[in-house]
Amino acid sequence: MDKTLLIVKPDATERNLIGHVIGRLEKAGFRVVQMRMQTLSESQAREFYAVHEGKPFLDDLVAFMISGLVVPMVLEKDNAVEDLRTLIGATNPANAACGTVRQEIALDVQRNSVHGSDSNENAAKEIAFFFS
Ligand code: UDP
Ligand code: MG
Repeated sequence: MDKTLLIVKPDATERNLIGHVIGRLEKAGFRVVQMRMQTLSESQAREFYAVHEGKPFLDDLVAFMISGLVVPMVLEKDNAVEDLRTLIGATNPANAACGTVRQEIALDVQRNSVHGSDSNENAAKEIAFFFS
């Protein structure tokens, strides 16, 4: 079975939306097989988002990701990576399709409520990052 990583981000944990997100995932056929609640250190957040090194939004993104609790989880489903990206919607909720998680609950392009791995290769790396 294919695996991917989802993180419930601080804007969503802050608004008591962990259960809502998990409900959306389970209803869409994802199985939660590992999960944890934690805060990230600055160095952990920078390591996780190393792919965005040099981007103008990185410092603000790191500050946001360490500002509260996050809930990383491993999800299982056929075609998990692509199906999760479809379910969560575009990075900017203003562009996210109707019925997607981000369209429904995200606040703005930074505080967009959830992370989802963008390829099988990155899913494997991100799962190892949180659940090695
Ligand atoms: N982000 C941001 N400003 C931007 C683009 C992205 O604050 O202009 C944040 C946002 O939280 C996003 C994360 O950086 O989820 C990672 O960006 P990426 O392009 O990888 O988007 P994602 O894969 O999460 O849709
Ligand atoms: Mg990404």
